[in-house]
Amino acid sequence: MSMRHRFKVVIVTGVPGVGKTTVLQHLSRILGESGISFTLVNLGDYMYEAARREGLVENRDELRRLNHRQQLELQGLAAQIIIEQASKTLSDQDLLIIDTHALVKTTVGLWPGLPEHVVSVLKPDIIVVIEASPEEVMARQASDTSRYRRDIASSPKELKDFMSMARIAALASATKTGSAVAVVWNPQGGAEEAARRIADIIRHI
Ligand code: ATP
Ligand code: AMP
Ligand code: MG
Repeated sequence: MSMRHRFKVVIVTGVPGVGKTTVLQHLSRILGESGISFTLVNLGDYMYEAARREGLVENRDELRRLNHRQQLELQGLAAQIIIEQASKTLSDQDLLIIDTHALVKTTVGLWPGLPEHVVSVLKPDIIVVIEASPEEVMARQASDTSRYRRDIASSPKELKDFMSMARIAALASATKTGSAVAVVWNPQGGAEEAARRIADIIRHI
């Protein structure tokens, strides 16, 4: 079995509210302007869509509180659908960018977002870990009322611990697939710069 897909796979991770989706909006524009052909997907969208269809959840932040075996199944299913679709639509050298999590705080404890049955399907070239200061992430979580993230951490110290474990989780997943891990800082007001940094990294795949 091949170590890689024909197309390049970049997984982007980071704790809830750190700014993955925001940075990836900037990255989409930057790649578009450079004429690079890519598809951007959010793995949580696929989990949410499957769970919503079965009437299990009403919003995406309820996924983390589902029965854990259901989450495990949804996670694997999402990875498979993403790769099936990308295999049909992407040409050689195109990019598949996946917005997701290396560590999820769920009902049974901390849980890998990229365990064997997921990472071996996605086969990432690179796993990006987006980070920012815990205080800034907590402020972003609090000011973004479109999402429920109060279950993640109740203090900067707790969030800092979660962030270091999420970084280690990304490295652990990377060892399964020989993927590179790149830590990218997303400071206050710096989402576009963080996206440029990811664009630079991607050029070297
Ligand atoms: P989740 O994992 O829950 O989907 P996320 O990592 O995708 O979270 P975003 O939704 O992109 O996080 O960002 C959370 C909030 O932080 C949003 O209100 C966004 O506008 C803000 N934000 C993101 N990056 C920055 C930044 N560099 N400076 C200031 N605000 C930011
Ligand atoms: P997001 O919008 O990125 O926060 O995704 C919505 C939700 O989907 C997350 O909060 C998690 O509950 C779930 N999710 C996303 N990616 C994964 C993953 N790799 N493994 C398990 N759950 C995930
Ligand atoms: Mg997001």
